[in-house]
Amino acid sequence: MDLDIAGLEAVLSPYIVLLGGTGVHYVSAALSGRLGVDEGEVRRGLDRIPAFVSPGAEIPSSVALATKGGGEDVFACTAITLGDCRVIALISEKNPARPFVEYADRDTFVRMFTRAPMGGLVVDRGVVVYVNEFLCALLEKERGQVLGTSVISLVSKEGRQDFIRACQIWHDQGNGEVETFDLMLTSCRGSRLLFTARGGCIERASRRLIWITLDDVTENHRIRRALKEEQLKFAELFGELPAGIIYISPRGRIMECNDYVAALVGRPREQIRGTPFTDHVSPDQAGVLRDDFRELFTDGREIAKRESTITTMDGRPVTIEYNARVIYRKGHPSKALMMFSDVTDKKVLELELLEKNAEMERTLWDMAEVKDALEARAGELNKATEDLKQLNEKLNLLSITDGLTEVYNHRHFQDRLTEEVERLNRLKGGGVLSLLLMDIDDFKLFNDTYGHQCGDMVLKHIASLLKSSIRSIDILARYGGEEFAVILPNAGTEQAVIVGERIRQTIRSTPFTYGEAVGAKVTVSIGVGTIVSGNTDKADLVRKADSAMYAAKARWKDRVEVWEED
Ligand code: GH3
Ligand code: MG
Ligand code: MG
Repeated sequence: MDLDIAGLEAVLSPYIVLLGGTGVHYVSAALSGRLGVDEGEVRRGLDRIPAFVSPGAEIPSSVALATKGGGEDVFACTAITLGDCRVIALISEKNPARPFVEYADRDTFVRMFTRAPMGGLVVDRGVVVYVNEFLCALLEKERGQVLGTSVISLVSKEGRQDFIRACQIWHDQGNGEVETFDLMLTSCRGSRLLFTARGGCIERASRRLIWITLDDVTENHRIRRALKEEQLKFAELFGELPAGIIYISPRGRIMECNDYVAALVGRPREQIRGTPFTDHVSPDQAGVLRDDFRELFTDGREIAKRESTITTMDGRPVTIEYNARVIYRKGHPSKALMMFSDVTDKKVLELELLEKNAEMERTLWDMAEVKDALEARAGELNKATEDLKQLNEKLNLLSITDGLTEVYNHRHFQDRLTEEVERLNRLKGGGVLSLLLMDIDDFKLFNDTYGHQCGDMVLKHIASLLKSSIRSIDILARYGGEEFAVILPNAGTEQAVIVGERIRQTIRSTPFTYGEAVGAKVTVSIGVGTIVSGNTDKADLVRKADSAMYAAKARWKDRVEVWEED
């Protein structure tokens, strides 16, 4: 506290001593002057009195100090406390100084208390006769609102009884000892303010005035309360956290643990404290854990997500996953904080999952094999289906083909002729359809001359010539033994005759050689029948071509004849 020493001397006594936390701070020049010795001498004298050396000790009611001539002066002591300091006013018994109130330089007094960083009050018979600015500011009141009011009205209700008692003590003790007292005042806005109050009594004009200094400890109190709450919260958290917390000393002993650990291990916390932490893990893991923590303390490297196994009281293994780090105090590792959670269930699930995965993989392999087999089988089936299809097509072709000449057989000729006649009859703008029927001339004789086998070759020979003499839309068939037929869609009589003639010429001009038959000449007789769209049937067409063919036979053979109406 920044004290106005000159002001104090003027107010209290010219002979004053100021005591701080470490002993005598100040000795007034007036005191050393009165004793006739220097200031150092006075200090040495005071140092022999315990109250002046040990802070807080009771000040004696009088002290004897050495004077220059080897005698001593006795002084009565009055002490007041100002902030951290005590001011001892000495009043010489030989030359008694007047009480400080008589010295009171009102200006100094007011200046001192007004500037002091603490609240200051003077009370006369329960009424506030002085209040300093600091307290007014705290109470958020104008000075005029406080002066003249009952001091009790400033104190909150619950503290009034105690306050009255304190005032009583301050009043009765006179200039003696100063009592401190916790006090609660209410500000203008109703907020509660906590103070440490010190008080005492001064006499003025035969009246006893109570002076009170007030240290605002509201903030301290608030901080203390908040700290307590924090500590409480921390204790709750520490106790109830659903995870294990262990503080481990650098020597590997458990300094503290929470209830979770106690519950898991099955022993009370007091019994766990002080035990080597490796006592609680499976013996096979103790070594690894010890090494890990030794490294943690030497390197300070954090341990993250390690697994270990704790053994409970009843011997049950519990898999834990833990993290640990070092806590430093003043640059040195003071302890390690280990946090862990029980992952036993998770571990079991993980194992189950692994097994299930392996099983699934096996099933997938099996399925892949089955799939390959099925695919191979499907390939075989596809091929078989394809073969069957081809076989069917072949069969189909065989069923409509004449075995010897490889042109359509008679049955297919009939089917195709039916279709063509039906198509013709469906044509709206009208159309024509012709049919050539041909018979090999004197074939019986040929057979007889060269043999039946050679006759067969002639049939093949003729068929091949016929194939190359017709259009792609024309339909060639073996009509009977040595008879062929050609359906000529969309061809009238004239066109059919042209085709017939071309065929006849081709056959007769293409000599046949086989076996004994060398350059043999083969001829055919051809009958042409034609029908136009309308109400016609295929029998009509066949009849026409057939009778035309007979007409050709009748007229020297090797010719084309057209059906004519009889
Ligand atoms: P035409 O000029 O009057 O027809 O005299 P042709 O000798 O041909 O008399 P016809 O038509 O009556 O005789 C047909 C002969 O054709 C009888 C038969 O032996 C012979 N023939 C029928 N089918 C076949 C066959 O598939 N192979 C052989 N080699 N001969 C056949
Ligand atoms: Mg015949
Ligand atoms: Mg014949």
